[in-house]
Amino acid sequence: MELFDTHCHLDRPEFDADRDALLTRARAAGVGHVLVPAIGPAWWDGLLALVEQGGGHLSCGLGIHPQEIPTLDPADDDRSIRRLGDLLEAGHAVAVGECGLDAPTAENGGSMERQVRLLEAQLGLARDLELPVILHVFRCQGEAVRVLERFGKLPAGGVLHSYSGSAELVKRWSRLDLHFSFTGPVTFERSRRIHEAARAVPADRLLLESDAPDQPPAGHRGERNEPAFLPEVARALAALRGEDAEELAARTTLNARRLFGY
Ligand SMILES: [Zn+2]
Repeated sequence: MELFDTHCHLDRPEFDADRDALLTRARAAGVGHVLVPAIGPAWWDGLLALVEQGGGHLSCGLGIHPQEIPTLDPADDDRSIRRLGDLLEAGHAVAVGECGLDAPTAENGGSMERQVRLLEAQLGLARDLELPVILHVFRCQGEAVRVLERFGKLPAGGVLHSYSGSAELVKRWSRLDLHFSFTGPVTFERSRRIHEAARAVPADRLLLESDAPDQPPAGHRGERNEPAFLPEVARALAALRGEDAEELAARTTLNARRLFGY
């Protein structure tokens, strides 16, 4: 099986103790490439350094995660977007992200208006620099699809990471040239809505991701997730779709290489 992990937060401190061993395990499991999306400005430099040491097996997206926004001073937003544009223009990343919308809660003090503004600024960079976008959309599919439709199709498309929308929305998102990525929850028996969506995605739009250290597959519940568990996601997704796991692995890897330019 040859797999491409399109979403793994390898720069997070959960991996500080055994990052090299983890990548060795990933390669032994057939995961030849890992794309690491950024969380926010404070992580960009460390992430770029990590990718540089990755020997061609790692790449990154640079962006501002919606859950990170409440921790950032709004006075820095314009400066952060300018710096992001400079780093992306210098060719240090293969994608813009992760960015998106995550329904704000009373506890995190988030503002949807600010989230939309920062998302649109990042979509603007993706359009101008012709880079794919890595989208995080959680508990606000309707709002997000409206923002993306209003913005218009991006020249290099993108991916809805850990897709949690309905099967019905797959068509609408597809018209925007977006891909759909699946992770741990697709392996859970009770994830009916995700299963339906996973069956509705066209084969050439399907991607795999670990989302490590979060969202481990069913066989590793409660554990820290890692890319070496990705074959379990591939097998569950293939079984759901009535496809051969090896073929699904090869096709999702091809899709990822095409989207991210490998
Ligand atoms: Zn993420």
